[in-house]
Amino acid sequence: MTIDIAGLGQIVGDSNVLTGKDAEALFTDARKVHFAEALAVVRPASTDEVAAVVRWCVTNDVAISSQGGNTGLSGGAIPWGSGPAVIMSLQRMNQIEKLDPDGWTMTVQAGVLIQTMQEAAVAEHRLFAPDWGARGSATIGGAIATDAGGNNVVRYGNMRDQIMGVEVVMADGEIWNGLRSLRKDSSGYDLKQLFVGSEGTLGIITRAVVKLHQTTPHEQSALAALSSLDDLMDVFALAKDSAGDALTAFELLPEVGIQKVCDTYDLVHPMETRADFYVLIKLGSNRPVTDLLTDFLALAADAGQITDAVVAATPEQEIKLWTLRDELPPTGLYTHHATGIKMDTAVPIARMGEFHNSVREIAAELAPYALTYGFGHVGDGNLHMNVLPMGEADIAKFKSVKPELMRRIDELTFSMGGTLSAEHGVGRDLRDRVVGQKSSVEWKLMRTIKAALDPDNRLNPGVLIPDP
Ligand SMILES: Cc1cc2nc3c(=O)[nH]c(=O)nc-3n(C[C@H](O)[C@H](O)[C@H](O)COP(=O)(O)OP(=O)(O)OC[C@H]3O[C@@H](n4cnc5c(N)ncnc54)[C@H](O)[C@@H]3O)c2cc1C
Repeated sequence: MTIDIAGLGQIVGDSNVLTGKDAEALFTDARKVHFAEALAVVRPASTDEVAAVVRWCVTNDVAISSQGGNTGLSGGAIPWGSGPAVIMSLQRMNQIEKLDPDGWTMTVQAGVLIQTMQEAAVAEHRLFAPDWGARGSATIGGAIATDAGGNNVVRYGNMRDQIMGVEVVMADGEIWNGLRSLRKDSSGYDLKQLFVGSEGTLGIITRAVVKLHQTTPHEQSALAALSSLDDLMDVFALAKDSAGDALTAFELLPEVGIQKVCDTYDLVHPMETRADFYVLIKLGSNRPVTDLLTDFLALAADAGQITDAVVAATPEQEIKLWTLRDELPPTGLYTHHATGIKMDTAVPIARMGEFHNSVREIAAELAPYALTYGFGHVGDGNLHMNVLPMGEADIAKFKSVKPELMRRIDELTFSMGGTLSAEHGVGRDLRDRVVGQKSSVEWKLMRTIKAALDPDNRLNPGVLIPDP
């Protein structure tokens, strides 16, 4: 049956229904490995228009994949293999509606960019804490839908911890206005949290109220060379003990990754002393943090945990150190990244080193020619391990062992009580692999919630919840 999409133009205006070449970028996922099978991209400008588009989809039996900045890394923001579908882009809903410095809240539409929120908060001497490399393209709607994490989780928690209220268009087009800004509310189920991490499968987030924090005008970072990866958790414990609440980020960077970023972006390696791994530490406070930072580094050096460190002395040096971290994801660095394995694992913090070394052992056994390295938000137990074939000649070999590699690494993760998705969501990429992570009771509860809120399986079908 041919579906006439002219009705969508009557809701949002013809120029906001994109097809063909105009829709190409939004039909392709962030890693450029998936391509959408969709009728069109629809770009509503208000909650009422979102609701009207949903009602059109109900009438025409069309599925909906919500999309924010399309920076998601788990293949959840575009539809394929699930019948007729549209992409509902929230990018035109890009207004900050209210910034309340005294109430420490900001009310925004779903398509506002993370960086725009950060800048608006700073202008009012407040901090919107979440931060990660895609800050200039990712939206708050997508960040809520994936329960995004990033660099500052070690201090402020993840997206779940920032959300006070949401407005959601439900699968039948009804609007739930849950835009509360209460610090305390024990009046029943916390429905807003259902939509955090729901990846567009339970409703379309159209607006949100988020928490703001005190600014930290004094921020300073240091890159420290680890004596050994085995010292990682001791350095983290020391950083927490000595810097306390000022510890804002604690990231692991491998030499192989730093070197590649420097080569790709023509940067100078900041360290004279080289090591296999470094930690990038950021302290932030309303008082100067230089002494706190240098005291911590001296203690770590005395304990033999680090061999050298550089401290950013200017804002320019600060940016240079964080560029090394922001550009580490392999998508921008390695030609064959799409064939490789890129993980978003979390394990209990005490077992991070063990997890890293075990993955390397599995990779060395099954794909000794591959480049294996880990980086990421180790202060939260979140490690992005990567196993990447480097040359054309290795791709066929790698593809033949990839399923076994993934099976062994997933088993390892589950045996450590870990998760395959710490912050990127499950999407379509992890949907079948994540089955073993939760008990049958847990899956039954999730399917029951999905069936109650979206009985026709209209919202992002095929994402997040595995088939029974
Ligand atoms: C270079 C780079 C670095 C990154 N670093 C990090 C990192 O450190 N930490 C981290 O957590 N993530 C990181 N990401 C991943 C990505 O930025 C996050 O997952 C982000 O939250 C996605 O936001 P988005 O607006 O791009 O969402 P999209 O990619 O458009 O969508 C992601 C998911 O959310 C759903 N969705 C989007 N908007 C809505 C809505 N309004 N209502 C309901 N569902 C919706 C989509 O259907 C999809 O399932 C990185 C990505 C890149 C490219």
